[in-house]
Amino acid sequence: MRPDILFPLFAALNSLKGVGPRIAALLEKAAGPHVIDLLWHLPREIVDRRERPTIAQALPGKIVTLTLTIGRHDAPSDRRRPYRIQASDPTGSLTLTFFRGDKKYLEQLLPEGSQRIVSGRLDLYNGIKQMSHPDHVHPLDKASEIPDIEPVYPLTQGVTPKVLGKALTAALARVPELPEWLDTAHLARTKWPAWHEALHAAHGPRGPSDLSPLSPIRQRLAYDELLANQLALTVVRRKAKRQGGQSVEGDGSLRRQVRDALPFALTGSQESALAEIFADMASPNRMLRLLQGDVGSGKTVVALMAMLNAVECGGQAALMAPTEILARQHYETIAPLVAKIGLKCVILTGRDKGAARRDSLAALAEGRAPIAIGTHALFQDDVAFRDLKLAIIDEQHRFGVHQRLSLGSKGHRADVLVMTATPIPRTLTMTAYGDLDSSRLTDKPPGRQPIKTVVIADSRLHEVVDGIGRKLKEGAKVYWVCPLVEESETSDLADAEGRYADLCRSFGEAKVALVHGRMKGKEKDAAMARFIDGPADILVATTVIEVGVNVPAATVMVIEHAERFGLAQLHQLRGRVGRGDAASTCILVRAEQLSETARERLRTMAETEDGFLIAEKDLELRGAGEILGTKQSGLPEFRLADIALHGELMRIAHDDARLVLERDPDLTGDRGRKLRYLLYLFERDAAIANLKSG
Ligand code: ADP
Ligand code: MG
Repeated sequence: MRPDILFPLFAALNSLKGVGPRIAALLEKAAGPHVIDLLWHLPREIVDRRERPTIAQALPGKIVTLTLTIGRHDAPSDRRRPYRIQASDPTGSLTLTFFRGDKKYLEQLLPEGSQRIVSGRLDLYNGIKQMSHPDHVHPLDKASEIPDIEPVYPLTQGVTPKVLGKALTAALARVPELPEWLDTAHLARTKWPAWHEALHAAHGPRGPSDLSPLSPIRQRLAYDELLANQLALTVVRRKAKRQGGQSVEGDGSLRRQVRDALPFALTGSQESALAEIFADMASPNRMLRLLQGDVGSGKTVVALMAMLNAVECGGQAALMAPTEILARQHYETIAPLVAKIGLKCVILTGRDKGAARRDSLAALAEGRAPIAIGTHALFQDDVAFRDLKLAIIDEQHRFGVHQRLSLGSKGHRADVLVMTATPIPRTLTMTAYGDLDSSRLTDKPPGRQPIKTVVIADSRLHEVVDGIGRKLKEGAKVYWVCPLVEESETSDLADAEGRYADLCRSFGEAKVALVHGRMKGKEKDAAMARFIDGPADILVATTVIEVGVNVPAATVMVIEHAERFGLAQLHQLRGRVGRGDAASTCILVRAEQLSETARERLRTMAETEDGFLIAEKDLELRGAGEILGTKQSGLPEFRLADIALHGELMRIAHDDARLVLERDPDLTGDRGRKLRYLLYLFERDAAIANLKSG
């Protein structure tokens, strides 16, 4: 239960003085529903109102604070026209302009003949100085109410600085003094302010340096947020481990048979990943392990071996993929291999219905099928396993392990292995998975040739088409990626359908296939089939191909508008070629005009193929918030911390959380009890539920 002292912070915004339903709705959109959310909503900029010129000195475009004598009101007869008020000082005159101005209100605010101090942005309108909708208007005796330095908050359009300032003052007044939860030595070393002081200071910056993410104020708040994140993850993870799993250690017979049937030997990192996985499975604790490996690094075989270990013990294993295409691809790789050793493998996706689905369900429930491959459909309530010992989740480049751990709950504390093809910077893995154990496939299967990557301006697209013509004659298969499906009037993005039509004209319709996100499953399959083993040698695609798709014969990847893709995405896409033993090329077609970051991204692509390096660069260039688009990615969103800038704090918080919980696993000690406040503040109540009460 949340401590009483925190209740006022979790009240709705309209409980604040001066915040009615309209303002509350606007603030909620910007910040969130509770008072605490408003407090976490930090200013991005400041407005300096210390400039106090005369009208004659005042420069258009600047924020100024003026002392004015108010003159005539020109109230328009038509409300659509602006309401104008004349004003002057001894050096000149100016117009105060209000759109949709309310006569009564304005006559009260700025009565004719009165003196007022007014602050806002000065403009020129038809050569006359004007200020529209001043930010502050006060009688002279209230001049001190105009702040010298005023914080500016993001996304708060429609809320005047004055109203926002009042709401924040009311919110800050509710901030209780809480016991210090940070380690004393840590605090002494960093000289950070206490939590409530930091919060006040964050909302009352005294200059631009106070807004810096590296200021002591912001670091303190960011650290609190990161520590709450790490504590919560570590608590949940320790609980999962404590619950224990089962010891799974097969006799190796099935694994040996499959190894003998494989046309290749496993790489060093495949072997060491397997050794780690088998050790986890053998231990009585539940396995929660992340297997990271670049596209094409050979995760599937590792997954298969792990599954066979479970099957050797008489159990079952399930592999869940994020998309239909990918699930089928896994199925097509794995099913024939295990059929050879007499094992039944079923597939279960949203498309499998009726009698076939019923058969698969029965085979799983009775244990006749030891291996299941599928999509989210594997989760559905009517899917039951006789004895699921291992759940493998192939996330490709999504995250969200927490929801998907529930697949593990379909077995009796089944071991869980999460596979991802996006090399994730270590700081990000920590935020998403905390202390999850991880294995990395760092070496590629032998025989792979490096992919030659070239960057070409789109004015030379015809040369690319000519080049493709030559490659086709040599027997190459080509991916051609476009960012959007349909041309929209407002966008000059290359359009997959338009490009498909062009390429059909150049090479003939039979030679070209098209897949995009809006196609139905069957159409997609048909198009893919024409490319994989049919007559089509060019596959025009939107990014649907980025997940999955293994066509070893494909050796050319063209990416149009490459500057619009993120590094991680480009890397994923490029990984679709270079899978066979022939040399491959990746052509990044770019716009004429590029931003500096886009240029840097493309340069990185041309320079390296190392996914882990590219991931670090991506984090550096984009910032964590943007990596993969946080919302869909399942990565936690931080309000106060920025992983790209606060990576070091993240590492410290990670160690801090681990140490604390090692000494005080249920947070019942002195610091532990204080840290519980921190968890509540950041709404980690679920983590607290995992602690014994204290
Ligand atoms: P990932 O899932 O990591 O993207 P895959 O498991 O699909 O990669 O493997 C890519 C290709 O490499 C597959 O064709 C696979 O058969 C092959 N492969 C995997 N391991 C090896 C190896 N040790 N030696 C040679 N080829 C391998
Ligand atoms: Mg694979």
